[in-house]
Amino acid sequence: MIAEALVPDLSSSSRPCHEFLDPNEGIDLSRIERAVREILLAIGEDPDRDGLIDTPKRVAKSYRELFQGLQEDPGRHLRRTFTQDHDQAIILRDIEFCSLCEHHLLPFIGKAHVAYIPARGKVVGLSKLARTIDVFARRPQVQERMTDQIADAIVKHVDPRGVAVVVEASHFCMKMRGVNKHCGSMQTFALRGAYKTDRSLGSQIINLMCNSRR
Ligand code: ZN
Repeated sequence: MIAEALVPDLSSSSRPCHEFLDPNEGIDLSRIERAVREILLAIGEDPDRDGLIDTPKRVAKSYRELFQGLQEDPGRHLRRTFTQDHDQAIILRDIEFCSLCEHHLLPFIGKAHVAYIPARGKVVGLSKLARTIDVFARRPQVQERMTDQIADAIVKHVDPRGVAVVVEASHFCMKMRGVNKHCGSMQTFALRGAYKTDRSLGSQIINLMCNSRR
């Protein structure tokens, strides 16, 4: 349900589809620049010194890229399915991503693994799954929600018999501040369809995704 709430409503007549394909749409660069300048002032820095003079501009441009997923509809990638006579699990492992935690706007980086069992031979290209992960990673995020959103988007657009998503990530808000611990990565799981209703199927796929990667 969360996933649906965050996906732009493409049916709305006031917001045509092409708006969501424009990476500049919805991102106010000059407002970010002003805010970054304010932050520099607030920490006691001189935003007009040589090294910092262009920093607000650079931060605004990187935020445009890092939050690009807010303007994108994951269905754009996932609707491009094709038919293949295949009814066994398809697993895509080690899809790298970078995201920013919404609590501190610090990076969390890691890998996502996706498995699904096609229904009626409906499959989706591997690159489309990888792009879908980026749509959700490039937003202010929490890892748990991102994991659910990926699974729910695949259910919605590909409608397979089952979906399993595992996300493993290191959080810089843990590494760089607060407890300052070099803690290991955090793992989150989302199971849908047959993987959720059939518990042994669900645990088999999780084991396969988590333990046989190396
Ligand atoms: Zn954080």
